[in-house]
Amino acid sequence: MKRSELQQKARQYINGRWESGVTTGLSENPSDTREVVAEYARADRSQTEVAVRAAGDAFPHWSQSTPQRRADALDQIGSELLARREELGLLLAREEGKTLAEAVGEAARAGHIFKFFAGEALRASGGEMLASVRPGVQVDVTREPIGVVGLITPWNFPLAIPAWKIAPALAHGNSVVFKPSELVPACGWALAEIISRAALPAGTFNLVMGSGREVGQAMVDSAGVDAISFTGSVATGEQILHAAARRRAKVQLEMGGKNPLLVLADADLDRAVDCAVQGAYFSTGQRCTASSRLIVEAAVHDAFVARLRHRLAALKVGHALERGTDIGPVVDRAQLAQNLAAVSAAREEGAEHVWGGEALQRATVGHYMSPALFLARPEHRIARDEIFGPVACVLRADDYDHALQIANDTPFGLCAGICTTSLARAMHFKRHAKVGMTMVNLPTAGVDYHVPFGGRKASSYGPREQGRHAAEFYTSVKTGYVLS
Ligand code: NAD
Repeated sequence: MKRSELQQKARQYINGRWESGVTTGLSENPSDTREVVAEYARADRSQTEVAVRAAGDAFPHWSQSTPQRRADALDQIGSELLARREELGLLLAREEGKTLAEAVGEAARAGHIFKFFAGEALRASGGEMLASVRPGVQVDVTREPIGVVGLITPWNFPLAIPAWKIAPALAHGNSVVFKPSELVPACGWALAEIISRAALPAGTFNLVMGSGREVGQAMVDSAGVDAISFTGSVATGEQILHAAARRRAKVQLEMGGKNPLLVLADADLDRAVDCAVQGAYFSTGQRCTASSRLIVEAAVHDAFVARLRHRLAALKVGHALERGTDIGPVVDRAQLAQNLAAVSAAREEGAEHVWGGEALQRATVGHYMSPALFLARPEHRIARDEIFGPVACVLRADDYDHALQIANDTPFGLCAGICTTSLARAMHFKRHAKVGMTMVNLPTAGVDYHVPFGGRKASSYGPREQGRHAAEFYTSVKTGYVLS
């Protein structure tokens, strides 16, 4: 492996100090696997417990801090993220593999999230006063921080997802133990480094890195962690749900998706193809909101497929930092193997191959593959299982009602989109799609940072993330009665 001059040494941040781990690990650049991006410290269960205790000790102090103090700290973190978006985007593109433009956009988004929650720290400090049903009694309803929150994140948005958990946790007065995915430790460390300069009381924010099975599980099992917010796969999420329920810890899960994009006969077809390309293939299809099921009305099916195929042929797959790259590499060897296996399975089960799905060679050795498109039937696995790569299928629908029925026929329920020029159809779809987010004439992926994010069914569990709704998870409601 090549040691780059950009290589980071990422340490744990526990109780206000930078600490070595019990072992070390390496993260590599998926665009050029010879390049080590970071050598990072890996914690074990007992070091994780130290971080949990530090967060517990800091909680009384931070939870009593003024809204102004919290707002100032979050605003400072947001400003630094925004000012350093290019540099952080470069790190993110090197470690996760999304294109530089996408990565810089994600760094900026993380900054905006902290700025938004700086405002929330001030806005959320009130409560509700109500008249009691009993004479002379007054009732107030206030929100209090929950305590120590454990935040466990995936690799695909290594700055934005941690930001949308850490910022509301701190804004609402909680202390934090944050565990990033082991594929993107340098991004987690870079964010922690910025947070470390915000003068939070020692122990208020802690970073522990390491394996999910050891560090993540230790957080989930620890009696010192009052609530767990997790984003990742359904399998891990379900394990966490059961473990947290056993000790009655509050839990919030954001998991997979198999998001439909409906294309109706009256749609603007160029816009529909744009939505499909962006939603299914950008960020290498590694988004929980990716449009992996393109459900197209029979009247425009063939024209849509022909135009989409044409667009796919023109997309440039390459090094994340290379100018002109549309699609960067897959995040690692295991995910690439999984994507290629899904493509082979699609061929075997009789889905019709339209384009791509092959491993590609580039000037540097990386995990490259061409965007894949199949024509499938709803019962095919390619139309049912989340693949989490640049792989999508087109499903033919007889009419709108049939398209809606296919769209809802999935265990997932994160996001659903429709391309149509009919207001009536769009409004019907918004009401009847069994998901947490709907899009009309927009890609299913790509959401705002100041409004709720989340889904239904196997996609999500617990209160929504982001925006004002984040308070549902990061606070506990207290009702007070006073006889005056
Ligand atoms: P993953 O479940 O493998 O890992 C997610 C995190 O959980 C990592 O930090 C990992 O170390 C940790 N972990 C693993 N085992 C654990 C355990 N037993 N206890 C506690 N923590 C554990 O997921 P991933 O591969 O990093 O991410 C891809 C998945 O994330 C996809 O399924 C995707 O749909 C989902 N995702 C969902 C959203 C959303 O908001 N709905 C957003 C992004 C990604």
